[in-house]
Amino acid sequence: MNPEFEHELRAALRADQVSTAPGDLARHAIDQGPVTDYREPAAVVWAETVADVQAVVRGAAAHAVPVVARGAGTGVSGGAHATEGCLVLNLERMNRILELNAADEIARVEPGVVNADLNAAAAAHGLMYAPDPASFKISTIGGNVATNAGGLRCAKYGVTRDAVLALDVVLADGSLIHTGHRTFKGVAGYDLTGLFVGSEGTLGIVVGATVRLRYLPADVRTLAVFFPDVQGAAAGVLVLGAARVQPCILELLDGPSLAELDFRNASTLSDRGGALLLIQFDGLAADREVVIARDALTNLGGNVSEEDPAEAGYLVELRRNNRGMDVDTENRVGEDVAVPRSQLVRYITALEDMAARHGVGVRVIAHAGDGNLHPTFWVPGMDTGSIAALNRALDESIETALALGGTITGEHGIGQYKLRWLPLEQREDVLELQRRIKDLFDPQGILNPGKALTARTSRS
Ligand SMILES: Cc1cc2nc3c(=O)[nH]c(=O)nc-3n(C[C@H](O)[C@H](O)[C@H](O)COP(=O)(O)OP(=O)(O)OC[C@H]3O[C@@H](n4cnc5c(N)ncnc54)[C@H](O)[C@@H]3O)c2cc1C
Repeated sequence: MNPEFEHELRAALRADQVSTAPGDLARHAIDQGPVTDYREPAAVVWAETVADVQAVVRGAAAHAVPVVARGAGTGVSGGAHATEGCLVLNLERMNRILELNAADEIARVEPGVVNADLNAAAAAHGLMYAPDPASFKISTIGGNVATNAGGLRCAKYGVTRDAVLALDVVLADGSLIHTGHRTFKGVAGYDLTGLFVGSEGTLGIVVGATVRLRYLPADVRTLAVFFPDVQGAAAGVLVLGAARVQPCILELLDGPSLAELDFRNASTLSDRGGALLLIQFDGLAADREVVIARDALTNLGGNVSEEDPAEAGYLVELRRNNRGMDVDTENRVGEDVAVPRSQLVRYITALEDMAARHGVGVRVIAHAGDGNLHPTFWVPGMDTGSIAALNRALDESIETALALGGTITGEHGIGQYKLRWLPLEQREDVLELQRRIKDLFDPQGILNPGKALTARTSRS
C-alpha cells in the first residue's frame, strides 16, 4: 500500500477500520466465485458512514488506488475478488435501516443491511422485501443491488432492479449523488438507478438504497410435484402459464440434484420421483390457484401433493441450501444461465447430452419460472484432461443457451469469471458503448477494475 495513502487513511478513520493484517487481507481476497485471477488486497477498510466512503474513495482517486467494494462476499462470479494493489472497501458495518415506511411501502437502508434483516424488520409491519437470493440470510442489500440479485420469489415479484427506487452513490471522485425517487413511478431523466443496479461496483459505491416493499401474503400454499423425468418437470412450467396461475416460487430440481440433497440431508426426495417442481402460490387466490395447478400438472403426468406449512418450509429451505457449503472449485462449477421459458426442455436435454459427450457430471436446479438455470458441472479429477473436458462442457452450455435466445448470466453477474463469454453475447459496438459509460463515471478506472466488462483490445 502506498505509505502516504495508508497514513491518510489511518488519520481519517479509527484504528479498527483499517487493516493490513495478513488474515484480513486473505479473508478479503476472494468471494465465492471460481478463481481465475486474484491478488491479496493492499489493505481492507471498513466504512461506517457515507463520509467514510467518500474520504476513502477521494484518497484512492488521488493516489490512483483501485477500490473493490465488498458486501458479504457471497458473490459467485468473482466480482469481489481483489485485484493488484487494491483496497477492499468493506461495507458490512453500514447496516442501519434508516426508514421503514409502511404507508409508502418503502424502506431506506444502508448498503450493509443483510437481506434477511430487512425482511425481519419489514415483517413487523406486515411487509416483505421480495428479492430473495438463496443467500438472503447472509448477503447484503448493497451486494444484491450491485449484482441485480434474483431469487426464488422473483417468479412473481421480479428481481432486485424491480424493487430499487432510488440510490445514494459515491462516485469515483468521492462525490455523492442521489438517483431515482421514493415513488413507485418516476421517469424524470435517464434511469441512472437502473444503470447502477447490476453494475458490480464498477460505476460507483452504493451507500444507500430506497427499496419497494410488498405486503406479506395472507395465504401461502405449496405444491411438490414429482415427475418421472426432468423434461416433464420443465414442461410443467409452460403448462402452469397456460393455466393462467402465477406462482411466487417455481423451482425445478432434477434427479441428480434430489439425490445430492438426499445424500446431504438424509431426506428421501428421490424416492418420490425423478424430478421435482416446487411451487408456491401466495395471495388471496392461492387456494384456487392450487386447484388449477394440481389439475394441469396431474394431466401432464405429475404426482402432485400439497405440503403442510412445516414440510413446505423444509422443502424451500432444502432448495435454498442446494449449494450447501460448496464453493466452486477448479473441478466443480455452478453455472447461471437463462433461456426463454419455451426453451427449458430443449436446453435441459442438451445439457444432459453434452455432459455425457464430454464425460462430465451435471445436475440442474432452476428458478424455472424465470427460465434461469443453475447447472453444476463437475469432473472427478484435477488432471489436465478432466479440466479441459469440464471447460468444453461449460463453453458448450453457454453457447447453447445463447443459441436458444438466452443469456450467459441470469442473476450472478459477469464478475471476473464470465468475462470470457461476454463477447459471445454482446457485440463489440455495445461493449464499447459500455466502456465509454465506464470512462465517464470512472475516468481513472479505479472502481473494481477488470470486472463486469471486457477491456478494450488494441483492435477496438
Ligand atoms: C449459497 C449461495 C446462494 C446464492 N443464491 C443466489 C440466488 O438465489 N440469486 C442470486 O442472484 N445470487 C445468489 N448468490 C450469489 C450472491 O449471494 C449474490 O450475488 C449477492 O447479491 C451478493 O451479495 P454480497 O453482499 O455477498 O456481495 P459481494 O459478494 O460482497 O459483492 C458482489 C458484487 O457487488 C459489488 N458490491 C458489493 N457491495 C457493493 C456496494 N455497496 N456498492 C457497489 N458495489 C458493491 C462487489 O464489488 C461485487 O462486484 C448465492 C450465493 C451463495 C453463496
